[in-house]
Amino acid sequence: MPAVPMIELLNEAYKGGYALGAFNVNNLEMVQAVIEVAEEERSPVIIQAAPSELEYAGWNVLPGIVKSVAEDHGVTFALHLDHGRTFDDAIRSIRSGLTSVMIDCSTLPLRDNIAQTREIVKVAHAVGVTVEAELGRIGGEEFDIRNSSPDAFMTDPEEARNFVEETGVDTLAVAIGTAHGLYKYEPRLDFDRLDKINRLLGIPLVLHGGTGLPEQDIKRAVSLGVAKLNISTASREAFIRNFVEFSSRYPENLDLMKTMGHAKESMKRVVRSVIRMLGSSNRV
Ligand SMILES: [Zn+2]
Repeated sequence: MPAVPMIELLNEAYKGGYALGAFNVNNLEMVQAVIEVAEEERSPVIIQAAPSELEYAGWNVLPGIVKSVAEDHGVTFALHLDHGRTFDDAIRSIRSGLTSVMIDCSTLPLRDNIAQTREIVKVAHAVGVTVEAELGRIGGEEFDIRNSSPDAFMTDPEEARNFVEETGVDTLAVAIGTAHGLYKYEPRLDFDRLDKINRLLGIPLVLHGGTGLPEQDIKRAVSLGVAKLNISTASREAFIRNFVEFSSRYPENLDLMKTMGHAKESMKRVVRSVIRMLGSSNRV
């Protein structure tokens, strides 16, 4: 089955009270890890790549790999641009066959964020491509929320409603206390805020910074409208640690397929636990 518009998968999940894992990939083995688990778990899945990852593997190459592997395994999937920053990122992605784009103008003043996002929604919707935007700012490696008052950077529910109405985005990434990368401190999520946003918007929501979130937080977020959970660091961490460990244990091994194959298995364990936690197994 070809890639489907992401919003179709999100709407199903939102209605069904579960969420989809959105896994970042940038090479063949990472793609295989996600797709193989999705097939084994009978779960729909979102495969995503940031502009840097598409740049690394090739803007046409990476989507080509994802589509071949997913179609070979008969997996239901959407192909999504993670953290696109510009109009060009969005257009290049649409041209490369992605079925969803995130446009993250959250660092811009609100008016500019709305204007930019709106422009992309117009083009994307014309060709059936889903749009995710971000309002508020999600902390992490490139942006340390702790240096400032965290509240000021969280998504404001009323503002979110206006934003969605004015831009026409299909789904929104919310800032409720999660962060990208590894948590350097215990995450404390603002569930009241999430609940309000969900009631006001009534559309599937996205949570970034899924790595290291406690299971009960993830489940609670899903019960409050989160239909997509982004996972990038956790799978890379599993992959790299296994790669290093295997290589140092068998320094004489020069069969890259063996080394990468083991690393892939390690990433598969992460993907599987996320998919099961989100409740998306046996949904296709
Ligand atoms: Zn993110």
